[in-house]
Amino acid sequence: MKLYSTNLKAEEVSFETALINGLAPDKGLYMPKELPVFSKDELVSLKDGSYPEIAFQILKNVLKGEIDEESLKSIVYDAYNYEVPLEEIDENTYIMRLDQGPTASFKDFAARMMARLMQYYLSKENKSLTILTATSGDTGSAVAHAFYGLDNIRVIVLFPETEVSDRQRKQMTTLNKNISAIAIDGKFDDCQAMVKQAFADEDLKPFNLSSANSINIGRLVPQSLYYFYSYLKLRNFPDEVIFSIPSGNFGNMMGCLLAKKMGLPVKKILSSVNDNDEVPKFLNTGEYHKIEPSRNSLSNAMNVGHPSNLARLITLYGGEMDESGTINKMPDMDSLKNDVISISVTDEETKATVKEFYDERNILIEPHGAVGIKGLMDYREKTGDNTFAITLETAHPAKFPAEVEAIIGVEPEPSQNLLDIESKEEKMDHIDTDYAKFKKYLKEKLG
Ligand SMILES: *Cc1c(COP(=O)(O)O)cnc(C)c1O
Repeated sequence: MKLYSTNLKAEEVSFETALINGLAPDKGLYMPKELPVFSKDELVSLKDGSYPEIAFQILKNVLKGEIDEESLKSIVYDAYNYEVPLEEIDENTYIMRLDQGPTASFKDFAARMMARLMQYYLSKENKSLTILTATSGDTGSAVAHAFYGLDNIRVIVLFPETEVSDRQRKQMTTLNKNISAIAIDGKFDDCQAMVKQAFADEDLKPFNLSSANSINIGRLVPQSLYYFYSYLKLRNFPDEVIFSIPSGNFGNMMGCLLAKKMGLPVKKILSSVNDNDEVPKFLNTGEYHKIEPSRNSLSNAMNVGHPSNLARLITLYGGEMDESGTINKMPDMDSLKNDVISISVTDEETKATVKEFYDERNILIEPHGAVGIKGLMDYREKTGDNTFAITLETAHPAKFPAEVEAIIGVEPEPSQNLLDIESKEEKMDHIDTDYAKFKKYLKEKLG
């Protein structure tokens, strides 16, 4: 598997190099040059497998020559030890719930595989590294849980003490072992700035700091697997299927496009967004303008004014977008628009969808998933296209108890993973926004 950079100025690299480096030296994002293509018969032959079995069968072809099959198999089974429920809305429409992982969001799927793949390559070369990450809540907990208990890798998470919810904080502070949580007396931007300064600090180079951030190709590939799984678990293997994906940084939808490239019969990808409507506008007008600062919406994990995976989307259709968001070469807009549809869903529509599904269908969803469902309903209404569709629920409703209760009048039941955390002891360090103190802390901790 060779990977190229979306900026087209860096050398092609192996999967291992792309995984460990994250960003290409020309500041572009890595993309696979070639992917295996599965015929419908090959796919259907996997239909009786469990989630990890199907994931392994797909991945062993994608990562051929990059990792031995035995190691890959144990990594996949270790990463995917939870359920992936499919819930019927009607005979033509299903919800795939990607909310049963340890931090109850779909980010677990990507983070757990990436962590284990990194661990595999590091231990082969007897190396270790420290993941340093700033979080406004969700990413930090998914990353911390994903790396929890692994050798060779230590994780330090910085979070703004007063800006995360109790549940989000507990997901980071009750782990211990190789995970350290630091409550910063400041805002998310302060955490981010301190992490950036640490990465640029020559004195800290010997500690081998890494960011494990969301643009890593090691997070994208695993996000193509549940599309195969849901297709195979749903009865009659339709000739075409529509996926509806609530989107922010467009990583989840890129996973679906990779699956389509690999032969999954995806008719359309509905990639709905909240008030941050830069992508729908781009698809409508061909002009791209990022939204700065990003707009606050109810589906807050999708408050993104310039999606980091847009450069990848554009490269797949023959265009080129650089790291500043400038399009140097237009993609083939006609084929892009034929495959991908993006609409913006307001907070009012999001709330109405959560309420309607709860009151009239007895189906509980949270605001992110509701954006996806509303996008699908809108598409069907406008086009009359009633093709079989799967819409993604990207977080557990109990991750957003206050928001959901305000809409439906009852607090959602926490999942077992969320309950388990409630009773565990919290451990964290406190630092203010003084970089010198943070640096001293890092040197003591890692030295
Ligand atoms: C991160 C996130 C999203 C957006 O996913 P992208 O890959 O960034 O488009 C949607 N829902 C939830 C709950 C998330 O945490």
